[in-house]
Amino acid sequence: MSYFTPNAELLAQSNTALASVNKTRLLTSSATLNVYDPATEEVIASLPDHNAVNAIEAVAKADAAGKAWAKTSPRHRSDVLHAVYAKLIENKDTLALVISREMGKPLAEAYGEVQYSADYVRWFAEEALRAKGSYRDSPSGDATILVRSSPVGLAILIAPWNFPMAMATRKIAPALAAGCGAVVKPATLTPLTTVIVLDLMIQAGVPEDLVQVITTTNASAFSEAVLNDERVRKISFTGSTPVGSTLMGLAARNIVKSSMELGGNAPLLVFDDADLERAIEGAILAKMRNGGQTCVAANRMFIQDGIADAFIEGFTERMAAFKLGNALNSEVDLGPVIDKRAVDRLSGLVNDAVAKGATLLTGGSSPDRPGFFFEATVLDNVPANADIATTEIFGPVAAITRFKTQEEAVHGANDTQFGLAAFVFTENLDRAINVSEALETGMVGINNGLLSNIAAPFGGVKQSGTGREGGAEGLEEYQELRYFTMKRR
Ligand code: NAD
Repeated sequence: MSYFTPNAELLAQSNTALASVNKTRLLTSSATLNVYDPATEEVIASLPDHNAVNAIEAVAKADAAGKAWAKTSPRHRSDVLHAVYAKLIENKDTLALVISREMGKPLAEAYGEVQYSADYVRWFAEEALRAKGSYRDSPSGDATILVRSSPVGLAILIAPWNFPMAMATRKIAPALAAGCGAVVKPATLTPLTTVIVLDLMIQAGVPEDLVQVITTTNASAFSEAVLNDERVRKISFTGSTPVGSTLMGLAARNIVKSSMELGGNAPLLVFDDADLERAIEGAILAKMRNGGQTCVAANRMFIQDGIADAFIEGFTERMAAFKLGNALNSEVDLGPVIDKRAVDRLSGLVNDAVAKGATLLTGGSSPDRPGFFFEATVLDNVPANADIATTEIFGPVAAITRFKTQEEAVHGANDTQFGLAAFVFTENLDRAINVSEALETGMVGINNGLLSNIAAPFGGVKQSGTGREGGAEGLEEYQELRYFTMKRR
């Protein structure tokens, strides 16, 4: 049977899950937003297409509810978030099936995303209790200073399509833990999962108006409206650098606190002294998780001359073994990319690289059939002037270049305006530390192709953004420091 044919039982279950999406939690609108399955190009559900008036209505509701929520105890907020965690896990089948249908990732990866998303909620349920504060003396000794954190206020949370659940919960959970209300805008392409999460949160005890979800095809009307409203005090955005830059400009109007998780161009460095199997395994994970559609995906692979032939042979063998097909086929480990634009972009990047001298080792094309599919692809000897050497690939295409010295590799890795993530494979401790220190990125994976971790402060430097998500730092993004000083007699 073709990998493009979904398992009949899973397909039926996913249709039931899609039909169960509760739209009554959303504001109403006469316009309609259609959601598509990227594996078939068919419409699988429709939601209200909210306009700017709806956005302001959402701001009003979440702001009013947020003021009451800010007064609740940390213990109460923690208990509610623990109940949300339990509710998400209880409904993991529905969530995973809908993630796979609207975004296209293989079902096993969708289950992984549900757990990862719920883990953020549980993490921030725990962090809600760790309210930071301090007492200190003034240097002159005649005043006492009390420092405490308060909720920043109403937050606008804008998520991308690549992790429809995780990118939303990574923002909603710390906002609620800190004591903020929120207006969430999921990606236009993948709004369904967030609508289910909203329903489950309310079932678990989150106050009805506290979190508002706006589903819209007009993202710029949304951001123009909400960032012009003085009740909004925070924006957290995950998405591309150009949109992040626009939003920072809009946020500047009312001096709104901003967190920006933006695009990446991650280098992956494999040194001659690396463990070959570990490097191949790590590179497959760093390149192919989520079909290569992650902001931390290994975008440029630099392989040292002495290990290059063996690494490339083993890596290419693994890439050629990926089974491309429908997310609901249990043998499939590479689903569709998100849309036609992505297929065209990947074809263009591969063709440009080959025309400029790169060698195509496997893959390289899009099967002629419905759905947005692109093969797992390896390009060797990619020249520096190829577009793929400087563009965020965001798909299952590996671009390899070879290097001679550590200096050359580090220079190449840093030769980009992005600074989100990097990966280093070496068995030499000095090299691991020195190279990690020299790389201009917010995160480095050392012999590790998986960077994301709820306990870590995820985020980038340079044009990859500002602010952190996860860890204790993730909560601080939704807090403001205040202090009281008392004069001593
Ligand atoms: P995108 O910037 O096109 O869209 C992201 C979100 O912003 C979507 O919800 C979209 O509807 C919305 N949006 C677009 N224009 C807007 C506007 N003018 N005002 C308000 N909202 C607007 O990005 P995408 O294609 O959805 O996601 C891919 C990009 O996201 C890649 O560049 C990737 O690297 C980045 N990303 C970064 C991280 C990170 O943590 N740094 C994580 C995932 C994805």
